[in-house]
Amino acid sequence: MTRAFGNRPPLRPSELLIPTPAGLYCPPADVYIDPVRPVARALITHGHSDHARAGHGAVLATRETLAIMALRYGEAFAGSRQVAAPGGTTRIGEVDFRFVPAGHVLGSAQIVVEHKGLRIVVSGDYKRERDPTCAPFEPVVCDVFITEATFGLPVFRHPPASAETAKLLDSVRLFPERTHIVGAYSLGKAQRLMALIREAGYERPLFIHGAVEKITELYQAEGIPLGDVRKIEPGERKAEGRKALAGEIVICPPSAIQDLWSRRFPDPVTAFASGWMRVRARARQKGVELPLIISDHADWDDLQETIREVQAGEIWITHGEAEALAHWCGTAGLKGMPLHLVGYGDEGEAEPEGKPAEVAP
Ligand SMILES: [Zn+2]
Ligand SMILES: [Zn+2]
Repeated sequence: MTRAFGNRPPLRPSELLIPTPAGLYCPPADVYIDPVRPVARALITHGHSDHARAGHGAVLATRETLAIMALRYGEAFAGSRQVAAPGGTTRIGEVDFRFVPAGHVLGSAQIVVEHKGLRIVVSGDYKRERDPTCAPFEPVVCDVFITEATFGLPVFRHPPASAETAKLLDSVRLFPERTHIVGAYSLGKAQRLMALIREAGYERPLFIHGAVEKITELYQAEGIPLGDVRKIEPGERKAEGRKALAGEIVICPPSAIQDLWSRRFPDPVTAFASGWMRVRARARQKGVELPLIISDHADWDDLQETIREVQAGEIWITHGEAEALAHWCGTAGLKGMPLHLVGYGDEGEAEPEGKPAEVAP
């Protein structure tokens, strides 16, 4: 006997969203959220490459996320695309999907999945700290909250980003002959750092590595003021041209701080903006002289605060320190469940290997 979905009793959470090797699958809508393999229909939370992949049939995402995907993968990144209006609801099958800001990077959204009164929130990656480059996280009360746990250990408590930015600017004042080379993920962190530097009153030009250029232009085109940002010209790769960058701030992808590219600058100070810089051994291992603890992920306190705020009885954990966060959920009287999803880890920020053996004060 076949019946229309409309006559079926309400689904259980585990029937509305199912972890599969391709990602979270929603059977009554036949869509995947942040699939890690090519699928017919994908809903995408944000533009980081572990969540937003090329090759899907159809993609539903915020306008900014679609623009980021087109920039990175080319206009043909998917068979078709559809803009998720902020706060608006898109019905697919019997399921309502709503995109709500996640505060992670430009265009990042949580996806609220609702079916006959059952509400699951897929938060994607998120943070609670203020970020001048994207809309703030909005908590949505729900039955099941699906969270990341990148920094889901008590050692991870992020200091205010403004204080970390002040450390960078103090060092620039202290060493006016040295070039400060700051590693920052090219989507989100680099632009947030630039905005923080501007908020701190620094008005000199900021120099960027070519890999950061296109995304930075997109942020500026979206109306985010980053001041005078200049790409490092090929001539400045030569010793003579680089002398001109003594005393300046250069922002580059994290991989560039360790390679030859950075060593050609005059007496460089290497810095790295990441939540992982809380771990001293990590900074040392990467040859980072000036660690800046600036993260686009919720820290231990903010994970807990968010879980309390959304009032969900069940917490499903996608990636990161899933077991530790699930254990905390148990102590708080909540059901915490690691999903063991494979394929997530933010362009370097969520590094699966290495445990925080040694933590900075
Ligand atoms: Zn991300
Ligand atoms: Zn991620």
